[in-house]
Amino acid sequence: MNRAPDSGGLAAYAAHDLSSRGRRYPEPAPRYRSEYQRDRDRIIHSNAFRRLMYKTQVFVYDEGDLYRTRLTHSLEVAQIARSVAVALRLNEALAETIALAHDLGHTPFGHTGQDALNEAMRDYGGFEHNLQSLRVVDVLEEKYPEFPGLNLTFEAREGILKHCSLANARQLDELGRRFIERHPPGLEAQLANLADEIAYNNHDVDDGLRSGLIKIEQLMEIELFREPYTEVNRRYPDLPPRRLIHETVRRMINRLITDLIEASRANLEAAKPADIEEVRAQSAPLIAFSESVGAQSQALARFLRTQLYYHPKVRRAAEKADKVVKGLFDAYFSQPSLLPNAGDAADDAMARARRVADYIAGMTDRFALREYRRLTGSSVSLSGSA
Ligand code: MG
Repeated sequence: MNRAPDSGGLAAYAAHDLSSRGRRYPEPAPRYRSEYQRDRDRIIHSNAFRRLMYKTQVFVYDEGDLYRTRLTHSLEVAQIARSVAVALRLNEALAETIALAHDLGHTPFGHTGQDALNEAMRDYGGFEHNLQSLRVVDVLEEKYPEFPGLNLTFEAREGILKHCSLANARQLDELGRRFIERHPPGLEAQLANLADEIAYNNHDVDDGLRSGLIKIEQLMEIELFREPYTEVNRRYPDLPPRRLIHETVRRMINRLITDLIEASRANLEAAKPADIEEVRAQSAPLIAFSESVGAQSQALARFLRTQLYYHPKVRRAAEKADKVVKGLFDAYFSQPSLLPNAGDAADDAMARARRVADYIAGMTDRFALREYRRLTGSSVSLSGSA
């Protein structure tokens, strides 16, 4: 790639157009955008991105319009990633691209949907949502005459594939190598990963409190919440609860972002990577929280897992979602003519199962429920007790 319209102001260790490993199908450089701005724009115009609007983040029941969906979650991740990228002079457009794309491969119904599909695919290579996000941008989006998928840069694809099993990494050529050799990706990918953690930890506190499934008294055991909550309460003793919670969450996010910028800056100053290749040659990520704040963030994540994600009410909805995904899988697998992409009659079981998984993974929550009702005749409601 021969031009770098965005290199002004970028640190040497950031992703630059000029040092990109390029696209799988070579294309002329964009005229008025950087390579990574083009990647971002392709994500925003994709079908998979629009479907995030109707996919569950945590709340697998349709209880209200204020809860995060995968789309609003992804926008919050992008906003956090962009702030930190600018502060560290990283490539803002690349960090934004990875953030917007990181959940494109998610099934309907959040993690329950992913686990159900993985079980259904047990004999056919399994299902991993990270790998599916890559599959969406590499293969499944049908937008361009000259190549499959969105033909994103290596750096965007590297960031989208956040985790990967060793077995799958071995089948992935250049992109899988870092999982086998245990090296980190570029800094923008490292950043998008932690921006995801900051976003979900904080919006799940907000959504969790709004739903009434978790309580302030429980959260007071969590340092990251207790300290700002106590400060805000002291400073504004008459604040209505919604504003009190919002100001607390705002301060939590601010604290995590500030720590991430400062600790990462110190790591970068110590390691002094000359360019993105030297970042990739490190043995560990350089974008990181300080030890103490990292531990606080982990403690909050553990709290949310046990108190919110495994709350009996969330679990009940999850069990129904599990039934829907497995029911859909069985219906399409036993009768592939039901699939819109009829494929060819010679498909072996492996290829057929993957076609079914791709179709189900692409569904929104509401479409999956409709299809389930159409194919099985029984309707499932994830909200309330139906
Ligand atoms: Mg996410």
